This record gives sequence, C-alpha cells and structure tokens, in this order.
Amino acid sequence: MKLTIIGSGYVGLTTGTCFAEMGHHVTCVDNNETKVKALREGIIPIYEPGLEDLIKKNVAVGKLKFTSSLQEALPEAEAIFIAVPTPPNEDGSVDLSFMERVAREIAEVLTPSMGYKVIVDKSTVPVKTGEKVAQTITHYAGKEVEFDVVSNPEFLREGCAVDDLLHPDRIVIGANSQRAMDVLKQVYRPFHAPILETDIESAELIKHAANSFLALKISYINAVARVCEKTGADVELVAEGIGMDKRISRHFLNAGLGYGGSCFPKDVKAFISISRQLGEPFLLLEEVERINEEQHERFLNRLRDRLWVFRDKKIAVWGLAFKQNTDDIRESIGIKLCQKLVAEGAIVSATDPKAMGTARPILEPIGVNFVDDMYECARDAEVLIIATEWADFANADLQKLSSVMRNRIIFDGRNIMSPDNLKTMNFEYHSVGRPSV
Ligand code: NAD
Repeated sequence: MKLTIIGSGYVGLTTGTCFAEMGHHVTCVDNNETKVKALREGIIPIYEPGLEDLIKKNVAVGKLKFTSSLQEALPEAEAIFIAVPTPPNEDGSVDLSFMERVAREIAEVLTPSMGYKVIVDKSTVPVKTGEKVAQTITHYAGKEVEFDVVSNPEFLREGCAVDDLLHPDRIVIGANSQRAMDVLKQVYRPFHAPILETDIESAELIKHAANSFLALKISYINAVARVCEKTGADVELVAEGIGMDKRISRHFLNAGLGYGGSCFPKDVKAFISISRQLGEPFLLLEEVERINEEQHERFLNRLRDRLWVFRDKKIAVWGLAFKQNTDDIRESIGIKLCQKLVAEGAIVSATDPKAMGTARPILEPIGVNFVDDMYECARDAEVLIIATEWADFANADLQKLSSVMRNRIIFDGRNIMSPDNLKTMNFEYHSVGRPSV
C-alpha cells in the first residue's frame, strides 16, 4: 500500500520505517527541512536500536523516502498518518496547535480527484480530537473531498521501538466507518497482531488510560518503597512477591527516581486535565503525579543528609537519557538532578552512553562537565549518582570505580547495583526502598 507519515520524529520515523519493512511504500514528511536533508543523506537524527539499518535497507530498495512537501506526499497515499507533537500547555492541557495546523495543511492539498483518503491520528491526543481534525479538514477542503479520520494510537517504547512496532502486543483501531476500518486492517495485515476495533473516542481514551496506568504502577511501587525505607524491608523483594501474581505482573514495578520521558509526564497531566474539564476530576492520577514529582526531591534530600552541603563538592552523574537505550532526554530525571546540584554549587560531571549530544546544549552552559568515559567521569568524585538504568552502569567494574573515586559513596536512583557486591568492595551504597549498606 502507499502510505504517508506526517512528522518524522521518534514515532513517525520508526513507524514509517517498520511499515516499509512490512512491504508498504512509505513517504515520511517533516516540515523541518534540515531533518529531511539529513535523512536523505543517511544521517539518522535519533538513536533507536536497529533503526538505522532498517532505514538504509528500505531506502535502498525504494520503499522508504523523505520529503518536506505534502504536495509530493499526499496525492497517491491511501492512508495518511499524523505523528506530530502534542506537548503540554502550562496548565497541563494538551497543545493541539500542531494537530490543527497539520489538518489545515492536509486540507489545502487534498482535492476530490485524489479519491478517498484515510487520515490516521497516531499522535497521542485527548478524546474528541478526531472529531475536530475531521471538522477542520472539511472546513478547509470543502465537502467534496472524500475522507475518514481514524484513531490508531501508538504504544511503542523508546529504546525498543523497532521491535515493538514489528511485533506489537495489539493494534487499536478506532473508526466510525467500515470503509476506513478495512483500509487500516489492510495496513496492519502483514504484522499478524491482534487488532482491537473500536469507535474513535474509545481508541483515543485507551492511549491516555494505558500510559496513566503504567505511570500509576511506578508511583505505587515508589510509595511502597518509602514504607520499605522506614521499616528495613527491601522493595525489590516486595515487588518480586507481588509481581509473581499474574493479575499484577512484575512489569513497571521498579522503584527508583520516578518516570520521565516525552510521554508519561505529559499524558498523565493531559488525562488529569481532560477529566477535570469533563467534570470528573481524576484525583487518583493527581496523587500519581505528586508522588512522582516528590521522588527525585526525596532522593536529593537523602544525598543532602549525607553530604550536608553540595557547594564545591565533586558529584558524578551516570545517566542523562530518561531511560536506557535511547538518546531522548525529554523530562529526564538525570538532567533535573544535574540542574539542581549545579544550582546548589556542586561541581558536576556527567556521562551517558548515547545522550551526551542531546544533553550538552542544556547542561554545558550551566557548567556541567561532559566526560565520555564513565570511570573518568567518576574520578575524584565524593559521590556517584546513577540516574539511568543503562546496562553499562549495572555491570560497572567496581574495582576500577573504587580506584578513581575520592569517596566510595554511590547513590543508585535505579536500583541496578547489587548491595552485596558493593558491601564486599567497601562501598557505601544507598538505593531506593532498600536498606543502605
Ligand atoms: P517528535 O518531537 O520526536 O517528532 C515530531 C516531528 O513532527 C518532528 O520531527 C517535527 O519536526 C514534526 N512536525 C511538527 N509539525 C509538523 C508539520 N506541520 N508537518 C510535518 N512535520 C511536523 O515527537 P514524537 O516523540 O515522535 O511524538 C509524536 C506523537 O506521538 C506525540 O503525540 C506523542 O505523544 C506520541 N507518542 C510518542 C511516543 C514516544 O515514545 N516518543 C510513543 C507513543 C506516542
């Protein structure tokens, strides 16, 4: 099939590439011409395991191409996917101006002679956005243009997006017309994944409800971790014990610094905001958000208790990406920790296996030292903070680490190290919801 994706960021680029890999002919559009030029030259703007090879392979066989022109990308497309940003407004509601703009731009290009089009909303949007997109297109394109709007939320996880897209748990398609539903089912036929067919509103709600539930699991275990810290219990064992219950599952029960990233913080905020607008305040989610916001502050307080003052002390931070296997630093807790430590006068050095490039423009101007080698980063540090759960950090050579640090003190915000190993090596080790050693 001929497919167009508008917005070639984390979602659009990976989705478009995986559609091509499954046999479709895909045109990825982006209005950032620098990004399009780079993509055409084979420079991939994001780090996502396996993505670069798939892009190169599909470009080479002519199944994937890049443009910034909707005039070029729309006429032949059977389905047009929208994957543009939906960032939060100051009050937590969703800024839908990117969606509105794309709807207008699509309308300006579509003509009745191009035939029936399915416009697919892949961005994460508040319930009822599909209706607005359809109204906008009709308003600007005229009633003669034949199209349907469909909601097809994306559930990929950054860091394993290619695998998630090629082998999805489920595909959710929200459509109010059988004709549109059939087109989307044809798009997804090669994936052999379970398809849930819904109305548009339910599909839109599924995405916000799913992300909010995952965030809730994280805040839940972080609240349990606080009780563990007061009682000497070990939150890892508690998580193991409750996660063995199939009704609960162990996934997303990892105590730590809390969730970050481009999705959970904004999607929880959005769901809170929508519920309030609808007169059904979702107080449970307000608590989820409160616990999350407190989590890294509590961690810093524990560090303050240990060091007394931060001023002029060298503190190393391992981890700037909001999670492992990505270079994405949006709402990253590692970045927030660096900013707060610098604000209190600490001398901060930082490292990350993939996110140095994305973090530099934010942290270098405030004086954070970027060090490629993780052991050099920790050299002469009074404390090492672990802020991202990269495997490189979990598997660190403790002998080497102990030889470079000034004090052997580790504050592990992701519980990735073994307290027993650290005790044997004479480190002082603090983590989240586990007894310090
Ligand atoms: P992103 O910022 O990485 O990419 C968005 C892209 O859209 C950018 O390249 C931007 O230049 C482009 N763009 C903006 N306006 C445009 C326009 N008018 N025409 C053409 N291109 C335009 O964002 P993302 O992380 O890919 O997220 C996109 C949407 O998908 C959001 O709604 C997000 O909530 C949702 N989502 C994200 C993830 C994730 O893990 N990142 C997962 C599921 C859903």
